[in-house]
Amino acid sequence: MAPSGSSFLPLLLIPAALGVNYLVQRGRSASHVYECGSCGVRSELSAASLTFAPHSMGRKYTRCPACGRFTWMTPVPRG
Ligand SMILES: [Zn+2]
Repeated sequence: MAPSGSSFLPLLLIPAALGVNYLVQRGRSASHVYECGSCGVRSELSAASLTFAPHSMGRKYTRCPACGRFTWMTPVPRG
């Protein structure tokens, strides 16, 4: 079977999707802080860590910078 050009498309889409996601997360991290579900401390999370963190209902599963635990971080608008 001859290699098809379309088989490369997903490989190109992954970095593109990550790049778009990174920009979205960067904009979001500028207007939100994240509240730790474990210790309740609000922290700023880097766009890089947000990009790769699993997410559900807007929350992010990532490591809390304050207590060091992996937990769900809830976005809170900056006030
Ligand atoms: Zn914490």
